[in-house]
Amino acid sequence: MLYRKRMVCRVQDGRIRFVCPNCRKKSSIVVRPDEKRRSVTCKNCNQKCECELNRRRTIRERQSGKAQLRIVANQLMIIHLQDVSCDGVGFTVLHGQGRKLRVGQELQGIVCDWNPQFSRHKLVVQNISGDKIGVKFCRYGV
Ligand SMILES: [Zn+2]
Repeated sequence: MLYRKRMVCRVQDGRIRFVCPNCRKKSSIVVRPDEKRRSVTCKNCNQKCECELNRRRTIRERQSGKAQLRIVANQLMIIHLQDVSCDGVGFTVLHGQGRKLRVGQELQGIVCDWNPQFSRHKLVVQNISGDKIGVKFCRYGV
């Protein structure tokens, strides 16, 4: 009788890549967005595992892609995130759109599917170089 093993699995695109700790058989398992744990039984050797689902790293690693910049409450601009750090974000805007922004301007947040936390942070424009924009998070509110 195999005892139940505990492990941490990373969630990527709504799935975990489960590798059986007993027989090393790999399988891809769909998980619900709100799921925190999942019991998995290996189809090959019947090993039972209690998987803790880790989403945090996935969010941190995804640093580029299409998002929307909230300039004021009802004005959005399409942006392409280039790099995300703990205190700021770099992105590009569609050609010519950079002119709508100015250094020191306060922005309401970034609307981003894969990282909803962005929308809760106000931002300040740090630098503008043509279509490349750098912004900093306002940590303490303004
Ligand atoms: Zn197995």
